[in-house]
Amino acid sequence: MSNLFHQLPSVDSLLRQPALKALSTEWGHVMLVAILREMQQSARDHIRQHQQLPAWSDDWAGYARSQLLLHSRSGLRPVLNLSGTLLHTNLGRAQLAEAAVAAAVRAMRSPVTLEYSLDDAGRGHRDRALADLLCQLTGAEDACIVNNNAAAVLLMLAALAPGKQVIVSRGELVEIGGAFRIPDVMTQAGCTLREVGTTNRTHLKDYRQAIEEDTALLMKVHTSNYQIQGFTKAVSEEELIALGEESGLPVVVDLGSGSLIDLSQYGLPEEPMPQRLIAAGVSLVSFSGDKLLGGPQAGIIIGKKVLIERLQQHPLKRALRVDKVTLGALEATLQLYHQPDKLAEQLPTLRFLTRTQADIHAQGLRLLPAVEAACGQRFCVALAPCSSQIGSGSLPVERLPGTAITLTPRDGSGSTLMAFSNQLRQGDVPVIGRIHEGALWLDLRTLEDEELFIRMINA
Ligand SMILES: *Cc1c(COP(=O)(O)O)cnc(C)c1O
Repeated sequence: MSNLFHQLPSVDSLLRQPALKALSTEWGHVMLVAILREMQQSARDHIRQHQQLPAWSDDWAGYARSQLLLHSRSGLRPVLNLSGTLLHTNLGRAQLAEAAVAAAVRAMRSPVTLEYSLDDAGRGHRDRALADLLCQLTGAEDACIVNNNAAAVLLMLAALAPGKQVIVSRGELVEIGGAFRIPDVMTQAGCTLREVGTTNRTHLKDYRQAIEEDTALLMKVHTSNYQIQGFTKAVSEEELIALGEESGLPVVVDLGSGSLIDLSQYGLPEEPMPQRLIAAGVSLVSFSGDKLLGGPQAGIIIGKKVLIERLQQHPLKRALRVDKVTLGALEATLQLYHQPDKLAEQLPTLRFLTRTQADIHAQGLRLLPAVEAACGQRFCVALAPCSSQIGSGSLPVERLPGTAITLTPRDGSGSTLMAFSNQLRQGDVPVIGRIHEGALWLDLRTLEDEELFIRMINA
């Protein structure tokens, strides 16, 4: 064994080889030496475990190159999302429109009028342009933009009800994956949660009886990731607004996703629209930028001017504000809503949502021969009807009928299946599918770059 250790070349001698000299010019001396040291260590470990040199030890330059490439790979890799979930939170939710991508790049490349007024060279407000746009689109009086909808809820509560009581129905004490739970956000915002009603039924009188001197807000939370069915009763926004007016209390709504267009015109299930709540008289509505809106991560609050001003002046706003890149992308996304007839073409989220099953099936037929050629020996390749979900707490029980390519291992082995789905995730552009009933399902609803897909399957 000690003989094997002696066969390992020193870093100095390696650096004298022409192929490694070239790598040093390309990647820099410091980085290459670090990689070579790592390789030596891994070679020594290999010898200790296997009493032989690692297979790559006859090509240090080639292996060093592959290690350098691996190290320089981004931790934020583009993937093909064929998981069947359109707005996949772990995959970054909405895919932005080209106009939004261009706007973000412009804002990154050059100084911009973020808080600068061209009229008098004085200070402007960073939310102004977007607030005007949102007011046009929704009929609201004013708007405020923060980092995400969780931040929007936190800011509304902290600014409008510090040390005070906020009334929420027990049927709406939502947890949105991770740590966002309405009762906890209340605590963080310094408010007292006053739960009313029961899990399945809450009446207007429950809210009315709970109103006390230190009540500051009536709040509704959209139950975006679950549904309560059966013997149920919830108080509508309209009823709550009437109660708010009668008792002098603002009504705020955490809408979660919301949609600025009526999805039912595309034959899709309805999602509540922020502008309808504003028209009905809700004081403030908050929703996400990267759910059904189809833009960048952001939290949007629209509503009454006097209340928005209180949010803008609260110290938390400074901590939760968004940068010029997000504002640029969000503005470009919202501008697309001025041309609703082109929206389904220009906004990827809506484009995916509105694809017909026939269209997706035709794509499946087009791709099938190539997938069959690449994987047909080990897998039975077929098309199967599937149902995609929207994800990110939008329309939780609705499914969109589509088509998936399914790969079922011919040997029926679960490990063949796992190995293949791992392999697909290790490609240059990882393909993310879903394992279900002994097969790998590749849901085609969100697939646009067919050539890339075929390349990854072949690789
Ligand atoms: C998604 C959601 C949130 C959180 O929004 P983010 O933009 O992810 O921070 C809060 N409330 C509801 C009802 C939601 O659906």
